[in-house]
Amino acid sequence: MVKQQTCLLTGKILVFDIGGTNIKYGLFSNKGRLLKTGEEETPKSYNNLLLFILDNVISNHNIGYVVLGIPGTISYANHKIIFAPNLKYLTNKYIVRDLNKKGNIHCLIENDANLAGIGEYYYKKERVKNFALVTLGTGVGGALINNGKIFTSKISSFELGHMKIVKDGRLCGCGKFGCFEAYASKIGLENTYSELTGEFLPVNDIISKARVMEKYSTKSFQIFGSYLGLGLSNIANLLTPEEIILSGGLSEVADLFFDTTIQTFNDNIYPSFINKIKLSISQLKNRAALFGGYSLAKVSQQRQS
Ligand SMILES: [Zn+2]
Repeated sequence: MVKQQTCLLTGKILVFDIGGTNIKYGLFSNKGRLLKTGEEETPKSYNNLLLFILDNVISNHNIGYVVLGIPGTISYANHKIIFAPNLKYLTNKYIVRDLNKKGNIHCLIENDANLAGIGEYYYKKERVKNFALVTLGTGVGGALINNGKIFTSKISSFELGHMKIVKDGRLCGCGKFGCFEAYASKIGLENTYSELTGEFLPVNDIISKARVMEKYSTKSFQIFGSYLGLGLSNIANLLTPEEIILSGGLSEVADLFFDTTIQTFNDNIYPSFINKIKLSISQLKNRAALFGGYSLAKVSQQRQS
């Protein structure tokens, strides 16, 4: 026990941001220095995911905490993953318990967007106390930070990507129709391109084509940006955050859609909110969840000491 307690207080912190397509990881020193990062395709089965995490724990010595960002809803009462629409094998899993069966690991889990929100809160250059964070990845995630705390409930974190923006719209991974995520995510962008052309093209190819002004890719990004602006205006009207920060993979190509997003956002937010609610792109890029994982572990560590 003494050894484990020492490890918790001085050991390194290994964070996994588990996405529907890729898994990112970051190894931090106990003092917060990012020692290394990596990104790989997300393992195709639950058992392989557990092995991937364990292999990384074993190969990086003296790990105090492992933090997992989960692309779905989590029960805070028992750490069960309730539903993960873009990585369905995680649904109904107790990943903390299962990792502990394979090795004595001090593991924390949090919704991936909430982790990114924590990362923005602690690492953003200008501290904002009330903001919303929207992650544009395989799906759409969201976090609301209210007076420095994550908004959540005993049921789960909220599911911003599944608010409805089109009545009887596209089928979403959650099984319902017309969700924000079915339009303003990587999947949504690919679906838009398919609707315009009748052909499937992976998101990276749509980006490459849009860079050379190909007609359908450019149009796909305009439609994407417009739906995104509409969804963000709903968030603004409902929650009046001081700022809405875009994070996740597609936020890194915001130059392809952000003007359209701002236009649609301003067309739809409550008139007195115009120019008061800032839209911005994360300064942490797609590493916000990794930094959030480190911050979460440090808060847990302070409770332990
Ligand atoms: Zn949905």
